[in-house]
Amino acid sequence: MTSTPARALEDIADWAYAPAPQATDVVRISPENGLFINGEFAPAADGRQFATVNPATEAPLAQVAEAGQADVDRAVAAATAAYELVWRPMPGAERAKYLYRIARIIQERAREFAVLESLDNGKPIRESRDVDVPLAAAHFFYYAGWADKLEYAGLGPAPRPLGVAGQVIPWNFPLLMAAWKLAPALAAGNTCVLKPAETTPLTALLLAEVCQQAGLPPGVVNVLTGDGAAGAALVAHPGVSKVAFTGSTEVGKAIARTVAGTGKKLTLELGGKAANIVFDDAPVDQAVEGIVGGIFFNQGHVCCAGSRLLVQESVAEPVLDRLRRRVETLRLGDPLDKNTDIGAINSRVQLDKIRELSQAGEQEGAERWSPPCQLPERGFWFPPTIFTGVSQSHRIAREEIFGPVLSVLTFRTPEEAVAKANNTPYGLSAGIWTDKGSRILWLSRRLRAGVVWANTFNKFDPASPFGGYRESGYGREGGRHGLAAYLDA
Ligand code: NAD
Repeated sequence: MTSTPARALEDIADWAYAPAPQATDVVRISPENGLFINGEFAPAADGRQFATVNPATEAPLAQVAEAGQADVDRAVAAATAAYELVWRPMPGAERAKYLYRIARIIQERAREFAVLESLDNGKPIRESRDVDVPLAAAHFFYYAGWADKLEYAGLGPAPRPLGVAGQVIPWNFPLLMAAWKLAPALAAGNTCVLKPAETTPLTALLLAEVCQQAGLPPGVVNVLTGDGAAGAALVAHPGVSKVAFTGSTEVGKAIARTVAGTGKKLTLELGGKAANIVFDDAPVDQAVEGIVGGIFFNQGHVCCAGSRLLVQESVAEPVLDRLRRRVETLRLGDPLDKNTDIGAINSRVQLDKIRELSQAGEQEGAERWSPPCQLPERGFWFPPTIFTGVSQSHRIAREEIFGPVLSVLTFRTPEEAVAKANNTPYGLSAGIWTDKGSRILWLSRRLRAGVVWANTFNKFDPASPFGGYRESGYGREGGRHGLAAYLDA
């Protein structure tokens, strides 16, 4: 390692950035937003509403209808009728045209989606613009291609759709999770009732508008905004044949209990506590970028975040040194500023959880570090944080924090790295940083994780299956495997 990159990093840290705010006038948020049932927006049957706020400022953005049992019944009835009468009988090539249309409209309205996502979720515009929205469009494009080729998906000669899919999604990637759920379900010939998370309903409603714009037949996609009770009512509805859930392990377990014995097909994408493993022969600069992206991307609100750094003891000091200097250059603040690396925490509840676990880390004896960084006065904010001296029994090494908090552990041998990486009830993802291909293969066979990245992290592609096992859930989303969850083969 020469001194040039270090010098360059220090220089960058000294730069004064002029603000580069993203204009918000591309977005029109209506003050009141209805449920999307049978192709139309309408208030909840009992007229209930709730507010969604901008987590960066705590300013209310809009009122949103809160679905109750009667609305769930209406949405499932609309989806059932659309399934029986329109979507199932429609040839795959025709279904594909709608999916292509939705994908293209997402691209055309990309700026609008990105700004709305950052306003409602708090994530940096750079990420919503460059990751969430393009990947959402890519999912619709990808699955549009499968709609008329289902018999070649390796799932039997004549795979059949299941019926109505009840889909419940979280707040960390609101539009992208909606795309992950809707695109394969629709391609396979199912109709959908989607329930977005209560803190981030707006891009799912914009996607509903896109469905209208694409001329999607009424009832094929329905969007019910509301809280956990609406999600629970949807999952339990007898008219739903397939349940797909992304969110916390606790709720995932409750859903598995509800669905057990009903014959409904279920996929669960739950939490994680991924190990990002750095060996002494790893290219340090790339590894540091991978560590930073692994835990600070999307404020660490990522189920597959590399929240446990396992670094080989012999290089721990230089790697941590470099990591701290890199983290000092991250810019926290206005999510709509194009310079921002770390945006707002999505809700006060989540902020409290991150604070509580970080305090537990200190109390249990780990050493806490954050760069000097001024947090905005209003809104929900947490600085990038690194804990060293973490032992495997610490809560911060075991529990999902779902925030910008990295726990660092060390190892000496590959065997110890594997043992520590696997010492978690989760099994979603892992990362390996090393110069040796043979070591990557040796490790990836032993790591109990659904996804293993090598010399990279947090890479997603619609063609690649994603999912975990053990407490991280079951089933796969993405790729050909993602179709299996929506077909009776
Ligand atoms: P959550 O599981 O409570 O909520 C996710 C979705 O499920 C939301 O739409 C919610 O309204 C709905 N829901 C809640 N209770 C339900 C029930 N009983 N039946 C059906 N649906 C229900 O997650 P959260 O409160 O948003 O976050 C809590 C924790 O979950 C986080 O701290 C994090 O650890 C984890 N999480 C994981 C992911 C992931 O991608 N795996 C995403 C978000 C949160």
